[in-house]
Amino acid sequence: MKQNILEMEQYAIDNNVPIIEKKSIAFIMKYIKEHDIKNILEIGSAIGYSAILMASSSPNAFVTTIERDEVRYMECLKNVKKCGMEKKINVVYQDALELNLSEDLKYDLIFIDAAKGQYTKFFEKYKYFLNPNGVIITDNIKFHGYVGESAKLDKGNLKSLVQKIESYIDFLKNNPEFDTKFYDIGDGLSVSTWKTKKN
Ligand code: SAH
Ligand code: MG
Repeated sequence: MKQNILEMEQYAIDNNVPIIEKKSIAFIMKYIKEHDIKNILEIGSAIGYSAILMASSSPNAFVTTIERDEVRYMECLKNVKKCGMEKKINVVYQDALELNLSEDLKYDLIFIDAAKGQYTKFFEKYKYFLNPNGVIITDNIKFHGYVGESAKLDKGNLKSLVQKIESYIDFLKNNPEFDTKFYDIGDGLSVSTWKTKKN
C-alpha cells in the first residue's frame, strides 16, 4: 500500500497530474476518522490517489469517485485494484455535471476536486446528495496563491479561472444554507456544513 502510494506520487509528478497536497489529504483523513464518515462522494478522481487514501482512513469509509478523462479513469481503476480496494471504491467514468446519481443515495462527505471553474455548479448539483450532518470539502481554494489577486492578472484563461474560484468563495461566504470554514492548508480547503439540520 505504502509503495503504491509512493508510485502514484511519482506518476503524478511525471505526468503532470494535480493530486492533492499531503497536508490537505492528511486533514481530510483525520476529519473522516473523527466524524466517522461512511459514504464519500469525490468529484475528480484523477488517478485515484485521494480516493484510495480517503477509503483507507477508516474501515467504515466507502468512496464513489467520478472521473471524465479516460486515461485517468483507467489509471485510477488500475490503482484501486493494486491496492485491493475494489470493495471500498466505486469509480464512475462520466462527466460529473452530466451524471444522474440515484436520488436515494446520500453522502456524509462530498469532496469537490474537479474543474476549478465549475465549483459552484458542482456544489449546487451535489448538495442534494448530502446527508443532514454531511460536509462538502473543496480543494484548491487558493489556486497556487492566485485567488484574491485576479485583478493583477492579465486577461486570459488563468484570470478567468481565478475569478471563478473567487466567485465560488463569495458564493460560500454568502450562502443562505451553508456555513463554510476556510483553511490555509496545502492549496487551500473549504469545509461547508448545513446551517440548520433539515427535517
Ligand atoms: N482528487 C484527485 C485529483 C483530481 S485532479 C487527487 O487529489 O488525487 C481533477 C480531476 O478532475 C482531473 O482528472 C479531471 O479530469 C477531473 N474532472 C474535471 N472536471 C470534471 C467533471 N466535470 N467531471 C468529472 N471529472 C472531472
Ligand atoms: Mg486538488
